[in-house]
Amino acid sequence: MPELPEVETIVQQLKKRVVGKKIKSVEIVDPKVVDKKIKKIIPSKVLSAKRRAKSIIVELSGNNFLLIHLRMTGHFHYLPKGRELEPESEQFVVAMFYFNDGSILTHNSIRKFGSIKLFNQEQLEKELSKLGPEPLEISFKEFEGILSKKKRANIKTTLMDQKVIVGIGNIYAQEALYHAKIDPTRKVGELSLAEIKRLYEEMKRILKLAIQKHGTTVENYVHIEGSGGFQKYLTVYFKDRCPKKHLLKKITLGGRGTYYCPQCQK
Ligand SMILES: [Zn+2]
Repeated sequence: MPELPEVETIVQQLKKRVVGKKIKSVEIVDPKVVDKKIKKIIPSKVLSAKRRAKSIIVELSGNNFLLIHLRMTGHFHYLPKGRELEPESEQFVVAMFYFNDGSILTHNSIRKFGSIKLFNQEQLEKELSKLGPEPLEISFKEFEGILSKKKRANIKTTLMDQKVIVGIGNIYAQEALYHAKIDPTRKVGELSLAEIKRLYEEMKRILKLAIQKHGTTVENYVHIEGSGGFQKYLTVYFKDRCPKKHLLKKITLGGRGTYYCPQCQK
């Protein structure tokens, strides 16, 4: 499932390609994934694209917002004028957006778990109101503050709880904990101030590096220009050994497979 770096990558690419253009028509192939109401607000100008948590928000003219959840396999293809969609992608198209300059943005979904919904600003704010703060914007004081309310939960599940802090899923929680040298099963309340500080810094560093590398492609994730590159930097996620060649342990935490190094992480 795409996490913060993957979604941020796609948002940056959408900004370059579609912000400022006018959508002249839209074809909705699968209304279970893409809200049919979108047809009614077209033609519309794309004013901005941004990310909140693991969602993409595309602002259109006339107080309209598309809220896009990619979930497991949602992705976009951008076709400059005259370019056609590759035949192997065609079967997964759930919507096509046609722009005034002849370019096309397709939204594709293999397993159809994602969604594109239409909201006005008020509805959008309500929809996003339960989310925790952004990890790249939060101060250390705030980070310490939100963790202090989760003392009895384990640290890995807490990092993945979108009401506590957003954008971090199973990949980056494990990677941040490895670099911070913290055992993922530890209770939040047992962590020292120095450990929390280390985690805060490693979490930010790993997320920023992963954005720079355009995310992690281990299963289905693709961004608009291809695959991510952060998989080369993974230390524990789906690995047998840590970078120091210690054998990793695999456990289940909060229902999710979790890898860690019992020697490097205490
Ligand atoms: Zn190790």
